This record gives sequence, C-alpha cells and structure tokens, in this order.
Amino acid sequence: MTELLTDQLRLMARRHPDEIGYRNLDADTALTFARWDGDSNRLARGLAGAGVAKGDRVSIYLPNEEVLHWVVAYAAVHKAGAVAVPTNTRLTAAETSTILGHAEASAAVTCASHLDALAAARRSVPSLGLVVSTDGDGGAARPVPGVVPWESVAADDAGDFQVDLEPDDLADIMYTSGTTGSPKGVVVRHRNASLLPNSDPPWTGTAWLHGSPLFTFAGISFVYNPMKLGKSAFFLPRFDAGRWLEVVATERPEAVFIVPAMAQLILGHPDFETADLSSIQLCSLGSAPVSAAVLRRLQERMPDATSSNGYGMTEAGPAYCAMPKDEAWRRAGSVGKPMPPMEVRVTAEPGRDLPAGAVGEVLIRLAGRQREYYRDPEATARTWTDGWLRTGDLGRLDEDGYLYIVGRTKEVIIRGGHNIYATDVENALLEHAAVAEAAVVGVPHDVLGEDLAAFVVIAAGQALDVEQLRAFLLERLADYKVPRRVTFVEQLPRNATGKVLKHELQAGRWTPSTR
Ligand code: AMP
Repeated sequence: MTELLTDQLRLMARRHPDEIGYRNLDADTALTFARWDGDSNRLARGLAGAGVAKGDRVSIYLPNEEVLHWVVAYAAVHKAGAVAVPTNTRLTAAETSTILGHAEASAAVTCASHLDALAAARRSVPSLGLVVSTDGDGGAARPVPGVVPWESVAADDAGDFQVDLEPDDLADIMYTSGTTGSPKGVVVRHRNASLLPNSDPPWTGTAWLHGSPLFTFAGISFVYNPMKLGKSAFFLPRFDAGRWLEVVATERPEAVFIVPAMAQLILGHPDFETADLSSIQLCSLGSAPVSAAVLRRLQERMPDATSSNGYGMTEAGPAYCAMPKDEAWRRAGSVGKPMPPMEVRVTAEPGRDLPAGAVGEVLIRLAGRQREYYRDPEATARTWTDGWLRTGDLGRLDEDGYLYIVGRTKEVIIRGGHNIYATDVENALLEHAAVAEAAVVGVPHDVLGEDLAAFVVIAAGQALDVEQLRAFLLERLADYKVPRRVTFVEQLPRNATGKVLKHELQAGRWTPSTR
C-alpha cells in the first residue's frame, strides 16, 4: 500500500470536517472536507456496484462550472481503484473519441449540458458502457438512453471506501494533446501522482485561488495541493481580470495561481494599480514563459509576496522547478531551482552536458518516480532515455544552478495556456482537398503569449478562402486550435532534407501568394 491522494482527503475529513475544501466562486457553492470525503465514498461504492473494477478507465468529462462534482468524482474514481481520465471538454467529438478510444474508457462522469457532445464521441468508443450524469438528463423531453443520474448511482453509505492499491497501480491518464492520429496519454501511477507529499498541516483559514481547468497539469495539482498546506481551494470557473481583482480584495486568498496570459490581462486592467492585493503572500505563475517585465510589475505591486514562475510538465509530474522566496527579485527570467531530489541537465546532442550559460535541451530526472506514455512504448523510449526525461524545452543553467527556459525544441504552441501541437492543426488542414501543403507556427501575441499562424499552399486548379478553411477546421478541431491568421503562399520554405523551415515563417520572411 502506498500513500494515496485519497488518504489526504480522509485525513482532512477527520481533522477539519467542517472547513471548506473546494469552493466555486461563480456559483457560490462549496464543499466541506466531510462532504467531499463522504460524497466520494458514496460514488465510489456506487461505481464499484455498477461494475467499475480496479484499473478500469473512467473519463471525467465535466466543464469548469461543475468543479465541485469534478473533485468528488476524481476522489471517487481513485477510491474505486479505477483510473481517472481527466478529459478536455472543449475538444471536438472526433478528438474526444480518439482519446476515450485510446484509453478504452469504460465509464464517464458528465452533466446534462455535455451529454450530446459525449454521445457523439461515444459512437466510436465501444468500451464506454456507463455514463453518469450529475443532473441526469437535465429534464430532456425524451430520456437519454444509457445515462444514469449521479444520485441513483451513488450508494447511501457514506462511510470509508477504498479498494486496495499498490504504488505501481495507475491513478490517472493525462492526455496532453487531442490529436486525431497519436494521442499522448501520460501515465500517472499512485507512486508519482503527488506533487507535494501528504501532510497533516495546521489549518491556516485562508485559500489558494486559481482558475485552471482541472484536466490540465496545473489544474489537477490544485485538487490536493491547497489542502496539503492547510488551505481551501477557491476556483473561478470563468476568468475575468476585473472579477479576479475583486475576488482577491473580498475573499483575501493568501496564495494565487495564474498562467501568464491571465497575468497580462490583470496587469492591463484599469483597477490593477488600486486593487487591494494585500492578502497575497504567494503569486505563483506557470505553464508558459513569462516576460521579466510582467513578473517585475507583479513584484512591485506585491512587494511582500513571492511572485515567481514555476516550471513543470505533465510528463515530469512531481519533478518541477520553483523559486526560493528571497531569490525571486534577483533571478528575473529564471524558473528557479530543481526541487530535490530532482535533477536537471542541459545538454547538446548526443547527450553532452553544456557549461553554465549555454543553451541546450533540458533533461530532468527524478529517480523512481518517472512517468511514461500509455500504450506507446516507442514514444516512451524516445522521451525517457537512460533514466532522463527529454523535455523538448531549450534552456540554460546559471552558475548557481538556476534554470532559464528560452524556447522549445518540440513544436508545442501555448496559446493562452492551452497546448496546441502544430502537427494536429497541420493534419486537419491537409484533410481539405484544396490544401496541398500546410505549416503552422507560433507567433508572439501580447495577451495570449502565443497565437497560431498557418501557411497554406493551395492545390493546383483549386480555389479556397480563409473563411471556408476556418469553417472546415472548426468541424475537426477545438475552437482555440483554429488559426485566425492564415496566409496562402506559393510554396513552403524547406531545407535540403525536405523539412519545413518554420523559423523563416515565424520571422515573416515568407511572402503571400499572388493568387
Ligand atoms: P504541460 O505538460 O501541459 O504542463 O506543458 C509543459 C510545457 O509547458 C513545458 O515542457 C514547457 O514547454 C512549458 N512550460 C511550463 N512551465 C513553464 C515555464 N515556467 N516557463 C516556460 N515554459 C514553461
């Protein structure tokens, strides 16, 4: 038996039954630890009774507004010994069914507003037998076949329930991209699920505020981390900079987490200079690069708080870099130091260590706690070599071992905190009969951090306009993956081996077609 995430919840329910574990600030609803623990015991018993067995994959397909059901379902899946598949509800039916098919999910937890989307995805996922809906069929005129209301699945008995689990048993599969061809599901085992060790913290009476969807690496870390520090988690389902400033002033959270795109919007808000931010002791950022200027303005507005940008990734899980409190000012642009016993190297091909200051690929190791890709041994072998995780990020270390991330070797475009893989968008573009060639690159964007720019070569004898192409893509891709900037070109710049020279496209050195 290993230390489980759900052990932490059981402990909190015993020690602090009436404190708020999670709060939805838009709906003004909240879960106490006793309720969270009890409700998840009820659902876990019910899932097990409905045939969900140890190791079965269960999709959590709930939008941000359903955050309280989300965290209860997540605990219930683990208590039933099953494997959670936190699923992005903004993906298209095709993307969702690719993921659920790859995971061979046998059950899903959703809500009435998302039943149609799940039903469309479900047609090509024969394994998916049980669909639990938080609010049944939402009062649909005709009953939706195969959907069971949460309350009728959940057992009456709210007493402790936990299927025995071993450290190597799977806890989650986290999909890092909604690809049509090759989804990458990061395997999270119970031994490497925790980002912070379980603890019995003194109750602080304060909160950690965030608004990251729980299916993301950042979001999922905010299910259990706040309670491990003796705090409530406060969640804003829809981010709005003005509302965020207002919530900070009225709710007085001690810690906040924002992604860089949110930081940009907060800084640009007319109330930023005057809002009461005095409660904040920790302003943590992460998920994407943050400019030193943005960080400095946050630090100036909150001189007593630690404002810093932490570096992590789904594949690395509990291995991440964080900035010590008194270094944040001095090391502008750094993501901090590796948290021991994690190790970091910066290397040049073929695995040669580079001296301080030189830029190369960032490699990470956390012995005994590495992750891998689900059902993809080749991708796993390519990504974890000789015990080291190849992050695909470019960075440098300074003389004191502080890490600076400068770019990416892999083509992930992070648009407003969402990871978009250029190849996903290129593949969808290439499905159009009039598209001969396509390349997608990330370009800087003031608010989103990065935006997509697509370069398309139209097939001979064909005609196509941007609106037609966007409409075509919207049927295949989540809306945030559809490029707003599309340039038609005569040909793509390529190197001698035929690889597209994306940096030329990014630098704007490629001219539009005259057609
Ligand atoms: P994800 O697994 O979705 O969290 O994405 C991980 C990737 O996000 C990393 O490989 C980096 O490319 C990027 N990333 C995360 N945190 C930072 C950061 N603090 N600075 C720069 N890039 C980051």
